[in-house]
Amino acid sequence: MEISGEAITDMQQAVSLQTEERYKEDFYFSKTIPQNLRFLEDLSWNFYWSWNKGGSELFRDLDSQLWEKCEQNPRRMLKEISELRLWQKANESEYVARLDQFEANFNKYIRKKIEGFGTITAEKPAAYFCAEYGVHNSLPIYSGGLGILAGDHLKSASDMNVPLVAVGLMYRFGYFRQKIRHDGYQQEKYVDSFDNELALTPVLDENGERVKIMIHMRRREVYAQAWLARIGRISLYLLDTNIDQNDEIDRFITGHLYGGDSETRVVQEKILGIGGVRLLRKLNIDPSVYHLNEGHSAFLTLELARETLESDKSLSFAEAASHVREKCVFTTHTPVAAGNDSFSPKLIEDCFDEKFLSALKLEKEELFALGRSKPQDTEEWFGMTPLAIRLTRSANGVSKKHGEVSRNLWLKMFEKDIKAEEVPITHITNGVHPLTWIAPAFKTLYEKHIGSRWTELLRDQGAWSKAIERLPDSEVWESHQLLKQLLISFIRERTFAKNTGKQDTINERENTARLFDKDVLTIGFARRVAAYKRWNLLMADLVRLLKLVDDADRPVQFVFAGKAHPQDKKAKRILQNLVSINHESNWQKRAVFIEDYDQEVARYLVQGVDVWMNVPRRPLEASGTSGQKVAMNGGLNFSVLDGWWIEGFNGENGFSIGELSASEEKLDEAIHDANDAESLYSVLENEIVPAYYETNENGLPIGWIKKMKNSLATLTPQFSSDRMVQDYIDQIYL
Ligand SMILES: *Cc1c(COP(=O)(O)O)cnc(C)c1O
Repeated sequence: MEISGEAITDMQQAVSLQTEERYKEDFYFSKTIPQNLRFLEDLSWNFYWSWNKGGSELFRDLDSQLWEKCEQNPRRMLKEISELRLWQKANESEYVARLDQFEANFNKYIRKKIEGFGTITAEKPAAYFCAEYGVHNSLPIYSGGLGILAGDHLKSASDMNVPLVAVGLMYRFGYFRQKIRHDGYQQEKYVDSFDNELALTPVLDENGERVKIMIHMRRREVYAQAWLARIGRISLYLLDTNIDQNDEIDRFITGHLYGGDSETRVVQEKILGIGGVRLLRKLNIDPSVYHLNEGHSAFLTLELARETLESDKSLSFAEAASHVREKCVFTTHTPVAAGNDSFSPKLIEDCFDEKFLSALKLEKEELFALGRSKPQDTEEWFGMTPLAIRLTRSANGVSKKHGEVSRNLWLKMFEKDIKAEEVPITHITNGVHPLTWIAPAFKTLYEKHIGSRWTELLRDQGAWSKAIERLPDSEVWESHQLLKQLLISFIRERTFAKNTGKQDTINERENTARLFDKDVLTIGFARRVAAYKRWNLLMADLVRLLKLVDDADRPVQFVFAGKAHPQDKKAKRILQNLVSINHESNWQKRAVFIEDYDQEVARYLVQGVDVWMNVPRRPLEASGTSGQKVAMNGGLNFSVLDGWWIEGFNGENGFSIGELSASEEKLDEAIHDANDAESLYSVLENEIVPAYYETNENGLPIGWIKKMKNSLATLTPQFSSDRMVQDYIDQIYL
């Protein structure tokens, strides 16, 4: 079933919802899988397959066309594949041997004993709460950076054997799928995730019944069931209100990720925070620390306070709050207002009834005050970030710069004479999961020259740098070129000539075979289309841009991808302008927009481009992570000095745009943008293009490869999510 963006609210009333019974059938389908391939079935239930080398190939090699059709979803693949094909593979000894080897590795991994980290033990794990998770594109419950980061956190926690459980929501319709219309305007579609197979199992109690939690909201009892996703050794529990017992409208609470109005948002967050804690209790999980990854889950602090007051009736709310604070830590992810949810007092009042308030021993006004940056300011709305800062023992931003920006932003919450430096907000810089993001070609290169234990070496900056230095230049270049060719064929395949008779946008072509050239400098730009990301900066001077694209000897080509929020019409028009540039120039064959940016598209892009461009308006990029993925695959970053790149850039491992001066941040936006556009063009013209096309007698761009190796050596360990999770354990959880 597909629903267009505009029609969601109507659909909420009209659609006839499938019931749980139907899913049961789907989830327990049976097919005779040959005995020697039985492990494929087990493996398909654990996302371990998605990041360990050879895992996705095991499914893909069953039937590569079907794999693409199933959108790289093993559950769907096993359902749709023919028995003939399965038996053919069962008769291929090379394939079966590969599967056996993978099974042995998997079993060793899964059965490893949990040692624990200080107070974080198997009995008292860390609990991670987040509104979205980007584990793999076959579990479409993420929209962008926050979700991918959460997914990478879980994968590293699994690899490092950290006792951790995760809680989130199961959005039945996920985030929207993007189509670009013939006139270049974005259209949204929502797909029912349950129409596809999902690697989720129902969470059952000891009697085999669905585990359910109940929450009072909308003056009713609303129930949620739970699904379990296995991320290696980590359990991710997802709450879902789509059950028969609930009113039709409540069944849509967990319908869409970031899709509804603020009433939907507040009830979703109540399910996540309060429902999440109740679920952990039902499962007898007693965390030693609760990690609120972004303010969406901050209501969990109120539930913990309610529990505390219930078990010790003599306490006041303030005393209970100090117990809660001991157990909770908070990460803020953006200084942008739209990323910090706040709700009207009316909504909060509707959401928390008298009974809940009296259990908390709070008056209505006192509850409102918990969510204000200035408690006395009765005009201020209820903010999830102030609530989280107030009721946790630790708050952190996601890069050094973002820590500083957050201290200034939330200074207003603290006493008058406190200085920004003294605001108790620290930082842990984001990282990405190396095994998820490093392409097989580079994994193979590392195995060959560094050895099978290269992933362990990655945690040691000094040893890793030395190892990278020893890689032969030609092999680094060949691996990169292989990935670039892969990207180009992906671009050609995704870019169809729509049968319209004329090509109006850059993703409508007659002849995709001529699209893109492996010998041309390739620049990638993919991210959300939000104002501060400045998609239009590159087009500030179209003549100058096209001169670069059209250069006879040293041309440049661009690949773009990204979604605009359905309600953000301005962003959609920026996108439309970009894809509709139609010119007597090479732009039509050297620029392309890939629809529907997701983890799969991201993989091809970050692994295949020469250069990754990022031009946020400083200092609004809290961290950014996609450039870190690029760096791990030999691509070079070309970015404004903001977020992680301030820490990453050393002058030799990529390129910078603009200055790193605080005064610049205070400039008028138009002047700031004009300065950065000038810098962008001149770095491209004078540094990037000449460096890329400068080759030695063997045709190798030696200077460029030196930069690639510098980038691989310095950035991979520093911006790995293993380092990030270790920092969270050492500096925050313990
Ligand atoms: C890594 C990633 C992001 C994060 O992008 P930034 O703009 O660097 O924050 C967003 N979406 C997808 C699909 C990603 O893989």
